[in-house]
Amino acid sequence: MAKEPAPGPLGEVQAFINTRDVEEGSDVLATADSATTWLRARGVVLEGVISEAERERVVDLREALRDLLEAHHGVAADPGTGQRLDGLLADVQLHPHLSSEGATLVAGGRGVDTYLARLAIGIVEATVAGTWQRLKVCRVSTCRWAFYDHTKNARGAWCSMRVCGTRAKARAYRARQAAARVQLETSGRRG
Ligand SMILES: [Zn+2]
Repeated sequence: MAKEPAPGPLGEVQAFINTRDVEEGSDVLATADSATTWLRARGVVLEGVISEAERERVVDLREALRDLLEAHHGVAADPGTGQRLDGLLADVQLHPHLSSEGATLVAGGRGVDTYLARLAIGIVEATVAGTWQRLKVCRVSTCRWAFYDHTKNARGAWCSMRVCGTRAKARAYRARQAAARVQLETSGRRG
């Protein structure tokens, strides 16, 4: 099922990327207030509303990740994207935690830094698990929704044929309804 979210910590990365709906033009992280609310809902401890600089850093990371995921369709990633990501994650702290079970990474730092560290750990774990390559963004340029490719051969290109199709139909329906409303209003005014 193409609509199922990515497994494990990769689901968090997917949810993060999808805070912006390219198609709808909406963005949960559009303001410092809304971004703070969202981060708190993900369990991030914040003393107050995040700064605009912090919000921009979070949004830059999200869009750099979205660009990076284009490479999972087999096209070469823009080298600039890797540099952007390196810069954004330069101060992120990851601590190894060793036990008899093995080693895990723990997110260090505070506030926004902790969240970025958690995302980085999720990607490290997904890379080890071999699932990272399956996190993709929809190839429809007006969609670019992050989805987990559940297809057998991992060649999926769209968030879901059905979802993208349904959304396109809904959009066309809304446009028709709006057009009909305008016509009604116009004729109502005449009568
Ligand atoms: Zn799509």
